[in-house]
Amino acid sequence: MTRHLAIVGSGPAGYYTAGAAQKKWGDDVRVDVFDTLPVPFGLIRTGVAPDHQSIKGVSRRYETTALSDNVRFVGNVTIGQDVTVEELQGLYDAVVFATGAPHDKPLGLPGEDLANVFGSAAFVGWYNGHPQFAQLDPDLSGKSAVVIGMGNVALDVARILSKTEDEFAGSDIVNHALEALKASRLTTVTIVGRRGPHQIMMTPKELGELMHLSRAAPRVDPADLPAPEDDAILEPGLRKSVGHLRSFAAIPESERADKAVEIDFDMFASPVRLIGTGKVEGVEVERTRVEAGRAVGTGETYVIPADLVVACIGYRSSPIPGVPFDERAGKFANDEGRILPGLYAVGWARRGPTGTIGTNRPDGFGVIDRIAEDLASGALGTAARQGRAGFDALAEERQLDIVTFRDWKKIEEAEAQAAREGAPREKFVDIASMIRARG
Ligand code: NAP
Repeated sequence: MTRHLAIVGSGPAGYYTAGAAQKKWGDDVRVDVFDTLPVPFGLIRTGVAPDHQSIKGVSRRYETTALSDNVRFVGNVTIGQDVTVEELQGLYDAVVFATGAPHDKPLGLPGEDLANVFGSAAFVGWYNGHPQFAQLDPDLSGKSAVVIGMGNVALDVARILSKTEDEFAGSDIVNHALEALKASRLTTVTIVGRRGPHQIMMTPKELGELMHLSRAAPRVDPADLPAPEDDAILEPGLRKSVGHLRSFAAIPESERADKAVEIDFDMFASPVRLIGTGKVEGVEVERTRVEAGRAVGTGETYVIPADLVVACIGYRSSPIPGVPFDERAGKFANDEGRILPGLYAVGWARRGPTGTIGTNRPDGFGVIDRIAEDLASGALGTAARQGRAGFDALAEERQLDIVTFRDWKKIEEAEAQAAREGAPREKFVDIASMIRARG
């Protein structure tokens, strides 16, 4: 019997799940991969940094899945709006949410709504041309930026803010962001962490990139570093990252002299409020010490000047009406991917915003195992579902303007043709242009 699967979200988690379904059921499965945007690949397109093209190249692997006969991309359709989850449940044996975690976790601090304060979903979306954030228009005319958080997203944001135009050669940073960054007057980017060097979430390869920037140099206060022998207990990746912090602390002043931008690590500093009149002017932080891995306030506060603030402190998934959601954790309520028999979550929507792109692969296989278990136990019922034929009838009745993978290939071609010299593409940053480019 043919199995019909609806996957909501076309990022890595979505396509790894589609690939796992093909492996499990071969030609006996039909998979529809839905996306709100007319373009596929989720965070590969709008999250991964534009100067990390080798990581973005993973989408070529998803293309093999996307172009096979039993998987199709259904773009420009919002589940929960154009089509309800209940309708999908009636048409498909299983519905899998691979919707990621697109919303910024709030800082929850006074002053958070001042102008020129952004969350990383918005800021990264801006430089990556996500239609929702393309109009963000951050003001980069000030001298100081504060990036809150000590994870890889904070590193991405600090690096992008520090690069020269030449360093974006070969990247797919969108024109509006490149123009704004070219005009940037920033001279200090402070990365604020509420804990210390042994608690950073930054990975070594990404951290090491800060040593090779043409106009920027990282700075770490040697007093923030624990004794070198204390690194022995760390797992190797973290030990390597801490080793990079030690190298940053050892950069001689003479080497910094010709660097116009400083990337300053301010650790043991927990933000308590954002200060400014209308627009942000500073971040007040409380000095911390780390006890049993936790940041404990010392009562000492100071203000870090900030003309721009980007909070890179994690993300939350979007609830979908009628689907159980764990508000505290900001993800779908699920047990190893199963929300209910027939409804599943995978990737960040399942486990929260952690892990690399590759982490989604075993996640995809795991959720397909859950679905297979539920099919075998009879938990999904025995009625044959209509799958894509039923969806197509519904789409026609509602006059939904579906974008297919073949359409996407035309959009992709138009983006490649519009690229700056040496760049792989110039992205369309609004939905109407994407739809027009499909012809
Ligand atoms: P992350 O790795 O979880 O880091 C979040 C950071 O924010 C932590 O340092 C955390 O500090 C801090 N934080 C959280 N709440 C805070 C608060 N209220 N005030 C101050 N600081 C706060 O998250 P991420 O950087 O968003 O990355 C998400 C995932 O994507 C990660 O798995 C990351 O590795 C991955 N990613 C990978 C790459 C790459 O491989 N190139 C690039 C980008 C993202 P505490 O630890 O003290 O909570």
